[in-house]
Amino acid sequence: MLLSACASAPPQAPSPPGPDPTEFIATRVAIALTESAAAEAELTARAPTAAAPASATPAPTATAAPTATETPAPTASPSPTPFPTLDLARFPRPPEVFAGEPHFFFGRPIGAGGNVFVASSYRYGSTLQNVLETHHGVEFANALGVPVVAVAPGVVYYAGDDAGRQFGPQLNYYGNLVVLQLAQTWNGRPVFALYGHLDAVAVVPGQAVAAGELLGTVGATGVALGAHLHLETRLDNADSYWATRNPELWLAPAAGRGAVAVRVTNEQGQYLPGRRVTFLCSDGAPRFLDTYWDPGVTPDDVYGENAAMTDVPAGYCRFETILAGETLVHEATIQAGTVNFVWLSPGR
Ligand SMILES: [Zn+2]
Repeated sequence: MLLSACASAPPQAPSPPGPDPTEFIATRVAIALTESAAAEAELTARAPTAAAPASATPAPTATAAPTATETPAPTASPSPTPFPTLDLARFPRPPEVFAGEPHFFFGRPIGAGGNVFVASSYRYGSTLQNVLETHHGVEFANALGVPVVAVAPGVVYYAGDDAGRQFGPQLNYYGNLVVLQLAQTWNGRPVFALYGHLDAVAVVPGQAVAAGELLGTVGATGVALGAHLHLETRLDNADSYWATRNPELWLAPAAGRGAVAVRVTNEQGQYLPGRRVTFLCSDGAPRFLDTYWDPGVTPDDVYGENAAMTDVPAGYCRFETILAGETLVHEATIQAGTVNFVWLSPGR
């Protein structure tokens, strides 16, 4: 059973239990997080410790750490993969970098003092390992009342609640929301940013706003398990839940970081849903990304990805996924301020 809920991000650091979801949800989330923590433990064991000093502190899964640490991966693991040595004989294809036209139209949607980084646990297209409904946006974990700001100059398309006008899969889904139409279009197509679950709304429809201008505050209205900002990118149609794109390919990466668009396909080039991709990058902190679970979330019109992550540190990264028992690997040098393309498929 999938919960029809937009999650607050599970805690990024050891923090007091949040506003208490049901026991069931807590258990399922704990299970999901334990699984990823176990995967992290495995990765930690495989990566040479010298190259990954920070790997012992898996940031996003702090709550699951106690369970995971009780099942350490065997120390007698096969000879550690050289990291970060490039195997050019096996991987002759250079990384594809779309430097030509990244549509990094979005600045950060959170104002001063807030967390401006996308939560890792429930990204676009994720189900949090089948715990929640497929996600059509991304989360910014923040406390109630943190300022929410315009990602770009534009005009307020909608501001209010969704009790009488539907923007999600049902009425009363986003609670108090703001939809901003960007002044900039993409190839002549209108671009919108949708901000969900707000506490206060500070703008009115038709109002012109500058980038960074206050739109409202972080809340937990609508279907939300706790205070957080839910941000969507919508292309062409502001009212359609099916018009979303992955915001991680629209947010301008932080300084020194780049975005990664991933495609995991079978030999026929078909997207494979729910595949876990691990990133081992120059900062030594493992990252995990699941391919979109649901064909209802639309890939980007430029990149055709089925998973994406922004704010990946520039420099070497090794990407892995396991398909039918085979570990597929792609190595690349992430370039800051660009979208870096990774295609994992048998035979590539
Ligand atoms: Zn959300």
